[in-house]
Amino acid sequence: MQIVPVHKVPEKKYEEWYYERIGKNGASKRIREITGAFQRTYAHVKRVKPEEEALNVLVCPVGLREKRRVLEILNLDEKQLQKVEVPVEPPENAEEMEKDANYWPCASHQSYKHEEIDEEIRKRVENLCEKSVVKQSGSRQCSEMSVILESAGGGYVIFGSQNEQTNENLFEHTVISLVETTSQVSKGYLCTGRTVILSNEPCLTCGMALVHSRVGEVFIVGEPSEDSPYIQHHIHGLKELNHRFRVYRVTP
Ligand SMILES: [Zn+2]
Repeated sequence: MQIVPVHKVPEKKYEEWYYERIGKNGASKRIREITGAFQRTYAHVKRVKPEEEALNVLVCPVGLREKRRVLEILNLDEKQLQKVEVPVEPPENAEEMEKDANYWPCASHQSYKHEEIDEEIRKRVENLCEKSVVKQSGSRQCSEMSVILESAGGGYVIFGSQNEQTNENLFEHTVISLVETTSQVSKGYLCTGRTVILSNEPCLTCGMALVHSRVGEVFIVGEPSEDSPYIQHHIHGLKELNHRFRVYRVTP
């Protein structure tokens, strides 16, 4: 069984920067001068890239409007400087971080940590699928079965079954029932941090309901839905919505 994240693959933007190669002797004084002349870098981009006998220090973007002034202060000639492309956005996962590190060292995005599935959760998801407690249905409308894991112990609660779904009435959508029932028994934010397993990808309304419920992570066992809020539209990763979470597809 395979469990893979449903990722947005954004077009990565890079920006060209000058860097100066300096000797290790007196390096800290020079680094202070450089950061004094141009302070701003991206929070995830490290200013210094160490080499065996030297340090490479980012100076400023090649396209910076006031670059002449910065280089003048530092007594640098742009012809002598080297250039490197640094990522404008922080790396989203391990693979990207490794790729970015080939250009310049970067700190990881915080959400990267959440990409690793908790081992216990993984076992519980696999177990429920292997025993066919959750199995995919033929629906392209919405998830006909929704399961929420108890936050402690091995328990779970099932909403809906393979045959009881009617898509005409939204309140009979199993995800809606799951969110409403869970919110009645828990205070504050509904499904905060909980794990939900779906027999198929949900419709857009249910997909949004899970965003608002502050669910922790979602596993989709079956096929993409017609609305495809997660697999196609990645609403779980939208910066505009105030809650983001991981979605995985479970394939046999
Ligand atoms: Zn639905």
